Amino acid sequence: MQHKQERTPPQAPLKRVVIVGGGTAGWMCAAALARLAPVGTQITLVESDEIGTVGVGEATIPMIRLFNETLGIDEDEFVKATQGSFKLGIEFVNWRQLGHRYIHAFGVMGRGLGLISFHHYWLKHALKHGFTDTAAFFPSGAAAYANKFVRGGPAESPLSGLNYAFHFDAGLYARFLRGYAEQRGVVRHEGKIARVEQAANGDIAAVHLESGTRIDGELFIDCSGFRGLLIEQTLKTGYEDWTHWLPCDRAVAVPCASAAPLTPYTRSTARTAGWQWRIPLQHRTGNGHVYCSQFMSEDEATAILLNNLDGEQLAEPRPLKFVTGKRNKFWNRNVVALGLASGFMEPLESTSIHLIQSGISRLLAFWPAAGLNEKEVDEFNRQSAWEFERIRDFLILHYHAVERTDSPFWQRCRSMEIPPGLRSRMELFRQHGRFFREGDELFTEAGWVQVLLGQGIEPAGYHPLADQLSDQQLEEFISSTRTDIARAVAPLPRHEEFLARFCPAP
Ligand code: FAD
Repeated sequence: MQHKQERTPPQAPLKRVVIVGGGTAGWMCAAALARLAPVGTQITLVESDEIGTVGVGEATIPMIRLFNETLGIDEDEFVKATQGSFKLGIEFVNWRQLGHRYIHAFGVMGRGLGLISFHHYWLKHALKHGFTDTAAFFPSGAAAYANKFVRGGPAESPLSGLNYAFHFDAGLYARFLRGYAEQRGVVRHEGKIARVEQAANGDIAAVHLESGTRIDGELFIDCSGFRGLLIEQTLKTGYEDWTHWLPCDRAVAVPCASAAPLTPYTRSTARTAGWQWRIPLQHRTGNGHVYCSQFMSEDEATAILLNNLDGEQLAEPRPLKFVTGKRNKFWNRNVVALGLASGFMEPLESTSIHLIQSGISRLLAFWPAAGLNEKEVDEFNRQSAWEFERIRDFLILHYHAVERTDSPFWQRCRSMEIPPGLRSRMELFRQHGRFFREGDELFTEAGWVQVLLGQGIEPAGYHPLADQLSDQQLEEFISSTRTDIARAVAPLPRHEEFLARFCPAP
């Protein structure tokens, strides 16, 4: 007798998705789902004007371009609409020691010669002639320091290795994405959520606004900011606190009028118990001071910020509190947390908006087929935690690998225990300059190498394959690489000129 073939039960597609929160996370998610979620998915977003958004967060990393491209957003339109500027990297001032500076430039270092990365040749050269700044060997670094900008170059040009991101007004970006999402059918409700309704099994069934409106759904995306309205206040998911590794827990932010030059890079200046950011937009410059409340009072932190502003102060300083870490689960029951609701790491390497983006693409990769699947949810959580932890280690490197001893804060950072994975990466690099990027972790070998060197970890050796070049060949290779990059950068337009020509803000 022929057995009936077993079939998978028909799949019930997910129909109703509710996004709680309309900050950068909420509107990025709404825009992406409006474009990419299966046809027929109804997307509703709730935001409260009274509660508002966190209102800071203006520097990004290059992956954001992929997000905009996927949504079909014209880059010039986006830069205009968000008062944006271009970003080629981050300059770190006074981190390794007072008076020292280096840049973490985006993109590629030098050029390849075969199996090993350019930095090994550079290291061999540096061990003979002395360690210098790596910026000149990065098209993005050289252009940043010359205040020039272009969107890359042809394959045969050194400019092909140039990579960039943006500085932008996050509030304007959210508004821009709101227009995009609403045009594609996302329904927005303005109002404060007064109550969260749970089903008998503990899942979220609906949210109730103060107005009495009830909004139900099958999947809820918690983009409610630090409060984590669903993921924490309702589901009590728990939080892994990383303050013992990243001790800063406060920030004070203040916008200023634009101050020339409009640099195509973010600046991070280390202070006695934290660091100060400077983010140039077209219409203003964002300034803020991230600090550790154990070592500095709010008044002191505010005074340091106000004494070190570039440009006329436009508003009163705004204090913010945070706890560095992540939720124990990013997806719990039928709630997925994105943005500040999922966890927070200080903006030292501008990673928060990127984490929203990667959370959205992971959500799409795990889009439920037929109800929620425990194994898939576990894997979503494992991948999210892994991504957070790799970024965390990169940030810890900045604090730990310092020569500064001028304040109790830096003394503590220098002597703290660090995660074993980071310790072995530092040891590996210290020996022969080796670094291995794992899986699809965010920061590249070139990014790590710049920060490892910039923070003062100077390897004792280099990869033996670099010896394939004779001393004379090595001299020529290093010097021609630097010259070719400098020549390619010299005729580029200044950053302000580029903006004025292609994407002036209204
Ligand atoms: P929020 O902006 O807080 O939005 C929360 C939303 O939820 C709001 O719309 C609010 O109205 C809504 N909401 C909350 N409760 C309710 C309720 N009961 N009813 C209805 N609605 C509700 N990121 C970067 O990538 N680069 C940076 O340079 C950077 N700098 C930063 C500096 C600081 C000091 C801080 C704190 C963060 C920074 N970030 C940065 C992070 C970035 O600001 C956030 O990742 C981003 O803005 C996302 O915020 P969010 O949308 O998760 O939360």
